[in-house]
This record gives sequence, C-alpha cells and structure tokens, in this order.
Amino acid sequence: MPTPHPYRKATRVGFHRQLMRCTWILPLPGLLAAIVLIWIGPYERWIQWTATSVLVLGSATVSYILRERFAYSLRTLTNVIAAMRDGDFSIRPHSSNAKDPLGALACEINALGDTLREQRLGAVEASALLRTAIEEMDAAIFTFDEHRRLRLANRAAERLLARPVEQLLGRTAGELGLESCLDGEPARVISMTFPGALGRFGIRRSGFRQGGRPHQLLVVTDLSRALRDEERQAWQRLLRVLGHELNNSLAPIKSVAGSLETLCRKDPKPNDWQEDIRDGLALISSRADALSRFMQAYATLARLPAPNRVPMSVGDWIHRVAGLEVRVPTRVSPGPDLTLEADRDQLEQLLINLVRNAADAVLEVREVSGGIDPSQAPINIRWSRSAVGVEVCVEDEGPGIANPTNLFVPFFTTKPKGSGIGLSLCRQIAEAHGGRLTLESRTDRSGCIARLSLPLS
Ligand code: ADP
Repeated sequence: MPTPHPYRKATRVGFHRQLMRCTWILPLPGLLAAIVLIWIGPYERWIQWTATSVLVLGSATVSYILRERFAYSLRTLTNVIAAMRDGDFSIRPHSSNAKDPLGALACEINALGDTLREQRLGAVEASALLRTAIEEMDAAIFTFDEHRRLRLANRAAERLLARPVEQLLGRTAGELGLESCLDGEPARVISMTFPGALGRFGIRRSGFRQGGRPHQLLVVTDLSRALRDEERQAWQRLLRVLGHELNNSLAPIKSVAGSLETLCRKDPKPNDWQEDIRDGLALISSRADALSRFMQAYATLARLPAPNRVPMSVGDWIHRVAGLEVRVPTRVSPGPDLTLEADRDQLEQLLINLVRNAADAVLEVREVSGGIDPSQAPINIRWSRSAVGVEVCVEDEGPGIANPTNLFVPFFTTKPKGSGIGLSLCRQIAEAHGGRLTLESRTDRSGCIARLSLPLS
C-alpha cells in the first residue's frame, strides 16, 4: 500500500500562513505610503480609486505568485522525499545552482537518494544471497513466531517433513511434530522420527526478534551418516588395538601350551621337565593376568559415570595431585584463585594420569642421560583463567610426542607395562565436563605440554 502523502492542505496552516503574512506585511508600509501619497495628491477621484485598486491588486498578485512559487518548490522536494521513502529513486529534484539555498537542498536530497539507493540495493542483494544460502543448506532451518507458528522453512526442512513449504507455513510446531525441539536444551543430539527421515539429529535453537516480536530459529542437522562414519572408524581403531592386545597374550599362550603338550608326550622325559612345565604354566598365568587387566581397563573406559559436580578450588586440586608424584620433582606455578563445578574424583584421576605420563616421559629420558637433579623440577604445572574458564598445563622435559595420531586411541601405549587407557580416560573426563584436552610437543625445548581447558560453571 503506498504511504500516505506527507503534504496535505491542512499542513498549510502553520508555515504556509506565516509565508502569506510575510508576503503581505513586507510590502505593506510601501503600499500604504503610496496610497497616502495618491490620496493627498492633486488627482481626480477616479484616478485615485483606480491607482489604489491597481496598487492593492498588483501587490496581492505579486505576493500570491511569490508565495506559491516558494511553496511549489518545497512541495516538489517533499514529494521527492516521499517517493524515496516508498523506494522510488527515479524522481530527482532539479539542482542546477548549488549556491542557492533551495538548489543546495535539492543537491543534498539527490546525494541522499543516491546513498539510500545503494544501501537498499546492497540490502536486497544481501538478503537474496542469504535466502539462496539458506535454501541450499543441508541442515533443515525453521523459524517460529511467538505463537510457535512456522514462518520460514528451507528446502531441507521440506524434505525432513516431507511436505511442500506452502503446506507447512502458518502451522504450529505441535502440528508439525517439532514441539519437543523447541523445548529443553537449546543445543543437543536427539533420536527422532520425522515424516521424511529418522535417526540421530543435532538440534540448535536460538532466539531473535523480527518486527519487535520474539522468534525462534531452529536448525536440525541429520547426524546419522556422520555418526555412522565416526562409529565405523572408532570400531576399526578399537578392533585393531583389541586384536593386537589379544594376540600379544594368546600367541605366547598357544606356543607355550604346544611346547608343554610335546613335553608331556616325550618318553623318557628330560631331567628338568618339571621346571619347564612350571615356567610354561607361569607364563600362561601371567599372560592370562595381562588379558584380565586389559579387560578391566576396557570396562573402566566403557563405564565412566556422569560427573558428580561439586565446587572445588583449582589451586587445591592441583597442589594435592602434584604432592602425589614422588618419582620426579614437580613444581606448581602460582595461579589465580578459581573455583570449578566438577567431579572431584574424576578430575583428580585425570590430573594424576597426566602427571604420571609426564613423570614416565622424564624418567625415560633421564634413564638414558643419567639421574635427576633434585634441585630442578622437570615437571611444571600451571593454570590461568582463559576465555572459556580455566586452562591447566602440565609441562615436562621428556622426549616429547613422537606421533600424535594415536595418543587418544584406547589401549595405544608405547610403554612396556602401559595400559594405553590413561589419555582416553582423561579426554572422556574432560569432555564429560564440557572441556578439552590436547597434547603436543613443546616448542621452547624438548618435552610435552598437556593442555586441559575446563569451563568454570
Ligand atoms: P599409558 O600411559 O598406559 O601408555 P596413556 O593413554 O596414558 O597410556 O598414554 C598413551 C601414550 O601416549 C603413551 O604410551 C605415550 O607414548 C604417549 N604419551 C602420553 N603422555 C606423554 C608425555 N607426557 N610425553 C610423551 N609421550 C606421552
């Protein structure tokens, strides 16, 4: 609907009447003087009347023309501005003389029109690009108004709900089966069945305002394929490690059992046959123990309980764990006073694993190069406030990370008696607390730095 024209007759009352008064009042003294001169002069009556009439009518006509010309210019500029407001930039005021006040005003209005036209064009192009991007996205995008009625849906949303957008717009979230997505955690992964797809979906929800009213943006991403790929890779990694570990135990058990069987069949038996049998059985028993430890470790990793969060001081936690390391001197650098909401036992376990790994790494180097100087601490733990919460770093002076690819693969170990679950468990604990754990070689010297980031609440 076109915007009502801003210029109305009624608006003449103020400025227009003032203008009228000015065009009358300004020539009035001269006009009166002329009339007085005519009437006191030696003229005949009819001349006096005629001259007076001509003067009055003439000045009235001039004042009217002046007033209308000025008002006409203003009315034209007003119409140009009104057209601009309606998005019509084709009408432009004539601006030949920029020194003239009205001409300068017309120039400014033309410049304003150019700027507005460019801005409007930019906005139209940007929103067209946005609309195309939204349409082409793989994720289903919905926007709901404050009554939870659907206001926008892209092509992926049509596919998810298996209906054309015309049949979706205006319907409530309940009618579309999306009610549960608009409640609860704003970002989560859920298993759902939609008319057009079923499986695991990532849900992200956020609020925004349109026309001053609250709206909700809902993005639904189909995670099934990505999760299946991840799952397959995780299984492959796990089977590789499990196969390696089982082989490590079963191969010697099988070989020793074969030797023992041959020994039992031998007649006469060698003199030390009893010793051979004892050694063989001891080896079978030790491999069986190793296998059982491996299975226990696997169970620990698979059944990590959800964190039981309590407030805990970061400084106390770090000092307590550092005090437990007795093989290698460990220094704690002072840090800010911070409190975490976390599972005390799990975080202690996490830091114990990191410090133990650091000590193992230091001992590995020192065994080659000679003992540890007790005045120097080859392990340093420090913490600081970060953008997300707190960052704890465990630095060591070991050999550093040779190959970072498998570090967090369960059961990967380079140590003769290692279990290979320490870092996997640490990462699981960190992620269960909404945090992150990374390990990398130090750049300032040989050694490794483990960085643990945790949100404060
Ligand atoms: P484990 O300690 O039983 O081997 P982890 O999962 O804790 O199991 O560690 C896996 C592997 O990561 C270790 O065997 C080691 O090769 C490497 N690693 C861990 N921490 C460090 C470190 N601070 N310096 C060098 N290598 C490390």
